[in-house]
Amino acid sequence: MTDSITQAARLLKKAKKVIAFTGAGVSTESGIPDFRSKGGLWSRFDPMEYGTIGAFRRNPAKVWKMLVELIDIARAKPNAGHLALAEMEKAGVLQGIITQNIDLLHQKAGSRNVVEFHGSIESFTCLDCGRGSSLASVRQGQIPPVCPDCHSLLKPDVVFFDEQIPIQALAQSEELLAGADVLIVAGTSCQVPPASFIPAQLHGQGGKIIEVNLEPVLGGFAEVVLQGTFTKMMTELVGQIERSSSGKL
Ligand code: ZN
Repeated sequence: MTDSITQAARLLKKAKKVIAFTGAGVSTESGIPDFRSKGGLWSRFDPMEYGTIGAFRRNPAKVWKMLVELIDIARAKPNAGHLALAEMEKAGVLQGIITQNIDLLHQKAGSRNVVEFHGSIESFTCLDCGRGSSLASVRQGQIPPVCPDCHSLLKPDVVFFDEQIPIQALAQSEELLAGADVLIVAGTSCQVPPASFIPAQLHGQGGKIIEVNLEPVLGGFAEVVLQGTFTKMMTELVGQIERSSSGKL
């Protein structure tokens, strides 16, 4: 494992532009179970009945039974792995993060350049009149939250299963990917398209991938595999980068 950490740190040191791509696995150690895992949100709520925009339009009150649990993840705190990524950005090692998570934990850890591919629970929109509301105001009022203007139920700005990825998020992630030569893929099984195409895109443009996963999935696509928990692997990686940049390596 030490060898892989050293190898990853060397790769990062040589790189021109490093970005990260994260998924649910980076938040499990913050107490947010993977929605797809046993006991996760989608094992208890049928995604077709609770996770589509069609279902929300038909019966928003029903979908809010699931959303109450979803927005509860706003209580979670970033873990050592989130903090390590934020530290890498501050140190100029990492240029930005594309995340599939909606839990705001990268931002809470201090990361600034974060593309939320699937939206986030930070803001809400009234589908009837278009008025926006913040998470803070929603948490102060009644649940399910209603639009202050037209009293329809609000929808969080997260991407439901049958919705398109927001154009802005696609544009921002293309911008991050442009010229990137190392991608840290962490906590994702890379199963949900189109986000799952990101590692292949980076690989296709000649970039190298560092995979950080409990159960690696990228096989030959990954140049270096750090198999273990997100917090342990990222803490060790940042430690190695620091030792290397202070000349102790
Ligand atoms: Zn409204």
